[in-house]
Amino acid sequence: MNKQPIIFCDFDGTITKSDNILSIMKHFAPPEWEALKDGVISQNISVKEGVSKMFSLLPSTLKEDIIQYVKEIGVLRSGFAEFITYTKEQNIPLYIVSGGIDFFVYPILDSYIDRDHIYCNASDFSGETINIIWPHSCDKDCSNDCGCCKPSILRKFDSEHYEKIVIGDSITDLQAAKIADRVYARDFLIQKCEELQIPYTPFERFTEIIQDLKGVGIK
Ligand SMILES: [Mg+2]
Ligand SMILES: [Zn+2]
Repeated sequence: MNKQPIIFCDFDGTITKSDNILSIMKHFAPPEWEALKDGVISQNISVKEGVSKMFSLLPSTLKEDIIQYVKEIGVLRSGFAEFITYTKEQNIPLYIVSGGIDFFVYPILDSYIDRDHIYCNASDFSGETINIIWPHSCDKDCSNDCGCCKPSILRKFDSEHYEKIVIGDSITDLQAAKIADRVYARDFLIQKCEELQIPYTPFERFTEIIQDLKGVGIK
Protein backbone atom coordinates (compact mmCIF):
# COMPACT_ATOMS: atom_id res chain seq x y z
CA MET A 1 0.00 0.00 0.00
CA ASN A 2 1.25 3.44 -0.89
CA LYS A 3 1.85 5.83 1.95
CA GLN A 4 -0.24 8.95 2.29
CA PRO A 5 1.85 12.06 1.45
CA ILE A 6 1.71 14.73 4.14
CA ILE A 7 3.42 18.13 3.91
CA PHE A 8 5.08 20.13 6.69
CA CYS A 9 5.91 23.62 5.48
CA ASP A 10 7.94 26.29 7.25
CA PHE A 11 6.59 29.86 7.38
CA ASP A 12 9.30 32.56 7.74
CA GLY A 13 11.58 32.75 4.72
CA THR A 14 9.66 29.90 3.07
CA ILE A 15 6.06 31.11 2.70
CA THR A 16 7.00 34.72 3.44
CA LYS A 17 10.01 36.10 1.65
CA SER A 18 11.72 37.43 4.76
CA ASP A 19 12.00 36.47 8.42
CA ASN A 20 9.19 38.21 10.29
CA ILE A 21 10.70 38.08 13.79
CA LEU A 22 13.87 39.78 12.54
CA SER A 23 11.82 42.39 10.67
CA ILE A 24 9.70 43.07 13.77
CA MET A 25 12.76 43.46 15.98
CA LYS A 26 14.55 45.73 13.50
CA HIS A 27 11.53 47.99 13.40
CA PHE A 28 10.25 47.96 17.00
CA ALA A 29 12.89 46.74 19.44
CA PRO A 30 15.55 48.69 21.35
CA PRO A 31 19.18 47.92 20.36
CA GLU A 32 19.56 45.15 23.00
CA TRP A 33 17.80 42.73 20.65
CA GLU A 34 20.91 42.51 18.45
CA ALA A 35 22.99 40.77 21.13
CA LEU A 36 20.18 38.23 21.60
CA LYS A 37 20.04 37.57 17.86
CA ASP A 38 23.82 37.08 17.77
CA GLY A 39 23.58 34.69 20.73
CA VAL A 40 21.03 32.56 18.87
CA ILE A 41 23.06 32.54 15.66
CA SER A 42 26.23 31.53 17.48
CA GLN A 43 24.17 28.93 19.42
CA ASN A 44 25.20 30.40 22.78
CA ILE A 45 21.52 30.64 23.67
CA SER A 46 18.65 28.52 22.39
CA VAL A 47 16.08 29.77 19.89
CA LYS A 48 13.48 29.51 22.64
CA GLU A 49 15.43 31.66 25.09
CA GLY A 50 16.44 34.20 22.44
CA VAL A 51 12.92 34.68 21.11
CA SER A 52 11.48 34.92 24.64
CA LYS A 53 13.93 37.63 25.60
CA MET A 54 13.55 39.55 22.33
CA PHE A 55 9.76 39.81 22.69
CA SER A 56 10.11 40.74 26.36
CA LEU A 57 11.75 43.95 25.06
CA LEU A 58 8.46 44.96 23.40
CA PRO A 59 5.51 46.54 25.26
CA SER A 60 2.22 44.59 24.92
CA THR A 61 0.55 47.76 23.66
CA LEU A 62 2.40 47.34 20.34
CA LYS A 63 0.31 44.31 19.35
CA GLU A 64 -1.88 45.92 16.68
CA ASP A 65 1.00 47.99 15.29
CA ILE A 66 3.10 44.85 14.87
CA ILE A 67 0.27 42.95 13.14
CA GLN A 68 -0.24 45.88 10.78
CA TYR A 69 3.47 46.09 10.06
CA VAL A 70 3.85 42.36 9.33
CA LYS A 71 0.86 42.49 6.96
CA GLU A 72 2.50 45.37 5.09
CA ILE A 73 5.90 43.73 4.71
CA GLY A 74 4.74 40.10 4.53
CA VAL A 75 5.21 39.35 0.84
CA LEU A 76 4.34 35.73 0.08
CA ARG A 77 6.52 33.59 -2.12
CA SER A 78 5.34 33.11 -5.68
CA GLY A 79 2.96 30.19 -6.24
CA PHE A 80 1.78 29.80 -2.65
CA ALA A 81 -1.91 30.26 -3.47
CA GLU A 82 -1.65 27.68 -6.28
CA PHE A 83 0.15 25.34 -3.89
CA ILE A 84 -2.72 25.59 -1.38
CA THR A 85 -5.24 24.86 -4.15
CA TYR A 86 -3.19 21.89 -5.37
CA THR A 87 -2.89 20.27 -1.93
CA LYS A 88 -6.66 20.68 -1.36
CA GLU A 89 -7.53 19.19 -4.76
CA GLN A 90 -5.24 16.23 -4.14
CA ASN A 91 -6.30 15.77 -0.51
CA ILE A 92 -2.72 16.07 0.68
CA PRO A 93 -2.73 17.18 4.32
CA LEU A 94 -0.71 20.38 4.69
CA TYR A 95 0.60 21.60 8.03
CA ILE A 96 2.46 24.84 8.62
CA VAL A 97 5.26 24.39 11.16
CA SER A 98 6.59 27.74 12.26
CA GLY A 99 8.89 29.26 14.83
CA GLY A 100 6.80 32.41 14.38
CA ILE A 101 4.17 33.65 16.81
CA ASP A 102 0.40 33.14 16.46
CA PHE A 103 -0.57 36.82 16.52
CA PHE A 104 1.24 37.56 13.26
CA VAL A 105 1.26 34.11 11.62
CA TYR A 106 -2.54 33.61 11.78
CA PRO A 107 -3.56 36.93 10.16
CA ILE A 108 -1.24 36.32 7.19
CA LEU A 109 -2.46 32.74 6.62
CA ASP A 110 -6.16 33.08 7.52
CA SER A 111 -7.34 33.28 3.92
CA TYR A 112 -5.30 30.18 2.96
CA ILE A 113 -5.35 27.61 5.71
CA ASP A 114 -7.27 26.65 8.86
CA ARG A 115 -5.66 27.55 12.16
CA ASP A 116 -5.83 23.94 13.34
CA HIS A 117 -3.31 23.11 10.61
CA ILE A 118 -0.80 25.64 11.91
CA TYR A 119 1.81 24.74 14.51
CA CYS A 120 3.44 27.89 15.88
CA ASN A 121 4.24 29.59 19.16
CA ALA A 122 1.61 31.48 21.15
CA SER A 123 1.56 34.83 22.89
CA ASP A 124 0.19 36.58 25.96
CA PHE A 125 -0.36 40.34 25.98
CA SER A 126 -1.78 40.60 29.50
CA GLY A 127 1.50 41.76 31.04
CA GLU A 128 3.52 44.89 30.44
CA THR A 129 5.67 43.25 27.76
CA ILE A 130 4.94 40.49 25.25
CA ASN A 131 5.19 37.00 26.73
CA ILE A 132 5.76 34.07 24.36
CA ILE A 133 4.13 30.72 25.16
CA TRP A 134 5.40 27.39 23.82
CA PRO A 135 2.68 24.83 23.09
CA HIS A 136 4.95 22.68 20.88
CA SER A 137 8.14 22.21 22.87
CA CYS A 138 10.68 19.44 22.27
CA ASP A 139 9.73 15.83 23.01
CA LYS A 140 12.07 13.44 24.83
CA ASP A 141 14.04 12.77 21.62
CA CYS A 142 15.05 16.42 21.08
CA SER A 143 17.29 18.43 23.37
CA ASN A 144 17.71 21.58 21.24
CA ASP A 145 15.22 23.70 23.21
CA CYS A 146 13.70 24.60 19.83
CA GLY A 147 10.67 26.54 20.98
CA CYS A 148 8.40 25.17 18.27
CA CYS A 149 10.02 21.76 17.78
CA LYS A 150 9.60 20.61 14.18
CA PRO A 151 11.02 17.08 14.53
CA SER A 152 8.75 16.50 17.56
CA ILE A 153 5.74 17.50 15.42
CA LEU A 154 6.79 15.13 12.60
CA ARG A 155 7.13 12.28 15.09
CA LYS A 156 3.47 12.68 16.07
CA PHE A 157 2.56 11.33 12.62
CA ASP A 158 2.96 7.60 12.04
CA SER A 159 5.85 6.89 9.65
CA GLU A 160 4.25 3.59 8.60
CA HIS A 161 1.26 5.45 7.26
CA TYR A 162 2.67 8.79 6.04
CA GLU A 163 5.24 9.90 3.50
CA LYS A 164 6.53 13.01 5.25
CA ILE A 165 7.50 15.95 3.05
CA VAL A 166 9.35 18.92 4.57
CA ILE A 167 9.63 22.36 2.94
CA GLY A 168 12.00 24.87 4.49
CA ASP A 169 14.81 27.37 4.21
CA SER A 170 16.97 27.43 7.31
CA ILE A 171 18.72 25.78 10.22
CA THR A 172 15.45 25.48 12.15
CA ASP A 173 14.20 23.07 9.47
CA LEU A 174 17.26 20.85 9.55
CA GLN A 175 16.23 18.39 12.26
CA ALA A 176 12.88 17.86 10.55
CA ALA A 177 14.62 17.45 7.18
CA LYS A 178 16.79 14.69 8.66
CA ILE A 179 13.76 12.53 9.49
CA ALA A 180 11.65 13.45 6.43
CA ASP A 181 11.04 11.17 3.42
CA ARG A 182 11.37 14.07 0.99
CA VAL A 183 12.81 17.59 1.37
CA TYR A 184 12.29 20.79 -0.61
CA ALA A 185 14.95 23.30 0.35
CA ARG A 186 16.08 26.80 -0.37
CA ASP A 187 18.73 29.16 0.96
CA PHE A 188 20.72 27.96 4.01
CA LEU A 189 18.88 24.64 4.24
CA ILE A 190 20.39 23.72 0.86
CA GLN A 191 23.87 24.25 2.25
CA LYS A 192 23.15 22.12 5.34
CA CYS A 193 21.57 19.33 3.25
CA GLU A 194 24.67 19.30 1.02
CA GLU A 195 27.00 19.18 4.02
CA LEU A 196 25.10 16.35 5.68
CA GLN A 197 24.24 14.54 2.43
CA ILE A 198 20.51 14.75 2.98
CA PRO A 199 18.73 14.29 -0.37
CA TYR A 200 16.72 17.41 -1.30
CA THR A 201 15.13 19.23 -4.20
CA PRO A 202 15.88 22.96 -4.46
CA PHE A 203 13.06 25.44 -5.12
CA GLU A 204 12.40 29.14 -5.38
CA ARG A 205 8.69 29.10 -6.26
CA PHE A 206 5.92 26.90 -4.91
CA THR A 207 4.88 26.09 -8.48
CA GLU A 208 8.18 24.21 -8.82
CA ILE A 209 7.21 22.03 -5.86
CA ILE A 210 3.82 21.30 -7.45
CA GLN A 211 5.54 20.23 -10.68
CA ASP A 212 7.97 18.03 -8.82
CA LEU A 213 5.25 16.34 -6.73
CA LYS A 214 3.31 15.59 -9.91
CA GLY A 215 6.49 14.17 -11.44
CA VAL A 216 6.97 11.64 -8.66
CA GLY A 217 3.41 10.45 -8.96
CA ILE A 218 1.89 12.55 -6.17
CA LYS A 219 -0.83 14.19 -8.22
MG1 LIG B 1 12.28 29.68 7.80
ZN1 LIG C 1 13.34 20.36 19.56
